[in-house]
Amino acid sequence: MAESQPEARQVYGFGEGFEDRNQLGNKGANLVTMTRLGLPVPPGFVVSIDAFHRFADTGELPGSDIDRELALLESTTGRSLGNGLSVSVRSSGPVSMPGMMDTVLNVADRETLLRSIRDILGSWNVDRAIAYRDLNGISHDLGTAAVVQAMVMGNVGANSGTGVLFTRDPNTGEDELFGEYLANAQGEDIVSGTRTPEPLSWLAEQQPDVYAELYRHVKDLEAYFRDMQDIEFTVEEGTLYILQTRSGKRTGQAAVRIAVEMMREGLIRRDEALMNVTPDQVRSFLHSRIDRPERFLPVLSGLAAAPGAVSGRIVFDNADARNQAQRGPIILVRPETIPDDIQGIAAAAGVLTARGGLSSHAAIVTRAMGKPCVCGAEDADVDPVNGVLRVGDAEFKRGDVITVDGTSGHIYSGELPLISGEPTGELEELLEIADGVRRLGVWANADTPEMVALAQGFGAEGIGLLRTERQFSSPESLAAIRRFILSDTDAERTEALGDLRNLQREDFIKIFRQLDGMPVIVRLLDIPLHEFLPESMVTGDARSEHRREELAEINPMMGHRGVRLAISFPELYRMQVDAIQDAKALVDARVSVMIPQVITRQEAIEIKSHINHSGLRIGVMIETVRACMRAGRLAETVDFFSFGTNDLTQAVFSFSREDAEKEFLTTYLDKGVLEDNPFEVLDAKGVGRLMDTAVYWARRASPTIEMGVCGEHGGEPRSIAILHAVGVNYVSCSPFRVPVARLAAAQATIQGDVGLLATTA
Ligand code: PEP
Ligand code: MG
Repeated sequence: MAESQPEARQVYGFGEGFEDRNQLGNKGANLVTMTRLGLPVPPGFVVSIDAFHRFADTGELPGSDIDRELALLESTTGRSLGNGLSVSVRSSGPVSMPGMMDTVLNVADRETLLRSIRDILGSWNVDRAIAYRDLNGISHDLGTAAVVQAMVMGNVGANSGTGVLFTRDPNTGEDELFGEYLANAQGEDIVSGTRTPEPLSWLAEQQPDVYAELYRHVKDLEAYFRDMQDIEFTVEEGTLYILQTRSGKRTGQAAVRIAVEMMREGLIRRDEALMNVTPDQVRSFLHSRIDRPERFLPVLSGLAAAPGAVSGRIVFDNADARNQAQRGPIILVRPETIPDDIQGIAAAAGVLTARGGLSSHAAIVTRAMGKPCVCGAEDADVDPVNGVLRVGDAEFKRGDVITVDGTSGHIYSGELPLISGEPTGELEELLEIADGVRRLGVWANADTPEMVALAQGFGAEGIGLLRTERQFSSPESLAAIRRFILSDTDAERTEALGDLRNLQREDFIKIFRQLDGMPVIVRLLDIPLHEFLPESMVTGDARSEHRREELAEINPMMGHRGVRLAISFPELYRMQVDAIQDAKALVDARVSVMIPQVITRQEAIEIKSHINHSGLRIGVMIETVRACMRAGRLAETVDFFSFGTNDLTQAVFSFSREDAEKEFLTTYLDKGVLEDNPFEVLDAKGVGRLMDTAVYWARRASPTIEMGVCGEHGGEPRSIAILHAVGVNYVSCSPFRVPVARLAAAQATIQGDVGLLATTA
């Protein structure tokens, strides 16, 4: 209905049908729409955003336009200002800024009206509005309109009153009006909480005709705006008025149910249903959360590393974790975590660390397992030796109960009331629709049969990354790999490898059984050997000490690891591939293997010469800058690529994955030097463009080569939009992020490539 704006008009009556949100703001445009739809809206007019800008430049209001509209308002109502007519003046921006700007009520003379309009337009620049825009990334240039509207009175007797409602339940999504009504009152009386309102059913009993009319109008509004609405209304001596409508805020559960039910009712299309739910709302579905957390004060905060909330007793070491976990949920509290802690994490219900970022070991492992984790809680002084966690003056001892909220990053003392997240039929239905729309495949990262089962439950199409490090962590495997590292003779080495092969075959058999035909990509060993000989390992044996010293590196994560290790010790990868073949002989499986940390096709050729006999598909991880630049040649050499965006981000930024978040990165984010944490949200302009180059050269060399992404970014919605634009075939992420990725991938398809990789700075 929006027509081009007539020249120089700056004020518009509600009845004119001019609905341009950029001129009238949301509230103003919605009032015009409701008037056009024939709803009972008190009459009024809007001083436009154009007028705001002129006022900001010159200090002048469009006085004659306002006079004209006021005269019209007086003739429509048959009353004059101060003589039976009073008006309200409210702000109306194109982006909602709830409660940030002023409102003036009961304006009853010509002078006060102009002053109020000035005040409202001026309130665009009050401190709290500026701060709100800064926080929410809203441009300061937008400006606001001012809505002038005839007041209707809810406080003129028992037949009058005021109410607010949602057209569906904002907590559960159930299709019934949800709201409150206060007889003989004005809107402020509800907001201030001085009187307790009645449920809407009370209005239905007291004034059934009014309720029936209200029901009809609000359902019309819901159908018109194609979304659940949050509506304010007033009854003046038995006559209903609708004062405001806007899309209602809602929980994740409600968002999904409302979208699916409105689609089933034919009120919205399938793509609209998908766009009406945010990935965050799906995420909140699957994790337990604290019931009304605003009631509690956190004792400590860190990075929200793995979502969900859990309460448990504190333990400080792995052995204790395993013992205590049998007696109820425990929280593993560590200064930081190392691969050895895997057993403790597996036993724990939640994890808290003082150091480490969002791609630290603790974060990745807990996210994959679906356990709440807060890491990098810098104010925590963790003393595992004495079994104390100190936060300022407070002390928590082994056995004390805390609550970890990995969604917000807060830690609370004691056990808090939790609400558990249960997937529903509606979520399944929404995600199945998403599956029919999305172009990106969604796979999962999983290392154990349990994680594979989780991934299957969440709808993953395959396992895109099975990290084999875990297979070296059982006491038997650890002993065997240590014998391999420490051995002096070929015979000793061969025997140790034989033991490892048998142990790993057993692991693979269990995993393949669980896969039940689902494809899996097994990543061959990546970590440096010396991690198997930690300093805490006291052998008292001179040879071991010597070997550990030999293997020690100053910068091990950029040292003798991944493919480099296998170039030196090809028998390690051969052993892993043989174990896979042994298992496959018993349980058929669709297995590919991939080589980490590759920089050149010569590495791939060399490794292939040792493992080609297996007949398995062999791919490389693309996680070094050089591999991206040599993607064409690599694509000629291997069967598939998987981008390791964790290491690739580290390499592109020259930021240490392990340390950046605990040091300068937080400062960078606080000061706005970087907008997002690149280990969380894929950096489109650097990493994304490098990937784009790699994909281009790889497809030129091998048009059908399969390319996936198995870094943490594969489960993050904004990154998924970038990866969709880059044109990879699939993303692979922690099992718990699979539902989020399915929705985000569909939304990326609906929105199309939105210039995320544009070549401008
Ligand atoms: C990566 O680097 O993105 C990756 C998936 O491997 P890892 O996190 O195990 O280094
Ligand atoms: Mg990596």
